Amino acid sequence: MKEIDTLLTNNKLWAQNVEKSIPGFFRTLENQHKPKYLWIGCSDSRVPADQLIGVMPGEVFVHRNISNQVINTDINLMCVLQYAVDVLQVKHIIVCGHYGCGGIEAVLQDQTPGLLAHWLENVKDLMERNNTPSLDDMCELNVRLQVRNLALNSIVRRAWDQGQTLYLHGWIYSVSNGLLHDLCITRGGRST
Ligand SMILES: [Zn+2]
Repeated sequence: MKEIDTLLTNNKLWAQNVEKSIPGFFRTLENQHKPKYLWIGCSDSRVPADQLIGVMPGEVFVHRNISNQVINTDINLMCVLQYAVDVLQVKHIIVCGHYGCGGIEAVLQDQTPGLLAHWLENVKDLMERNNTPSLDDMCELNVRLQVRNLALNSIVRRAWDQGQTLYLHGWIYSVSNGLLHDLCITRGGRST
């Protein structure tokens, strides 16, 4: 089981290195969990939230699913969202998609297997509303749609109504050069 043993060995080295460069790091973290950001991203292994934005453990609360969907009936995401907004009081929610997303591509090619067809229904609707979009266009449109869904979500709206500082951001990541691109659709402040 060399593949798995390597991961555990890597972990020991990583923990040692962190502790060496920031003595007491883990002990300090043990007693606090105050991330400012909630990241909603794709499960794609090429898009690891923490590494892309250069943060250490403790800085970003993360939820990932296939094609970074924000679906109001998804109990998993809704629990994450409620905890992030009500308890952790994060200041920013980042929806991050990526170009070349396999889930979006499967919808475009009408090749979504089994449950995925159900999971990605909103993406299919989005595709049908837009005239034969390219894969990259669809990846961006998908982020825009998910940010809109968040802006209509009752947990987010209640936070805004209560005057809580909460910004929603839509970003897209390029797997081919490692760069994030801000789609400039930031929403924030109180709802109207
Ligand atoms: Zn993806």
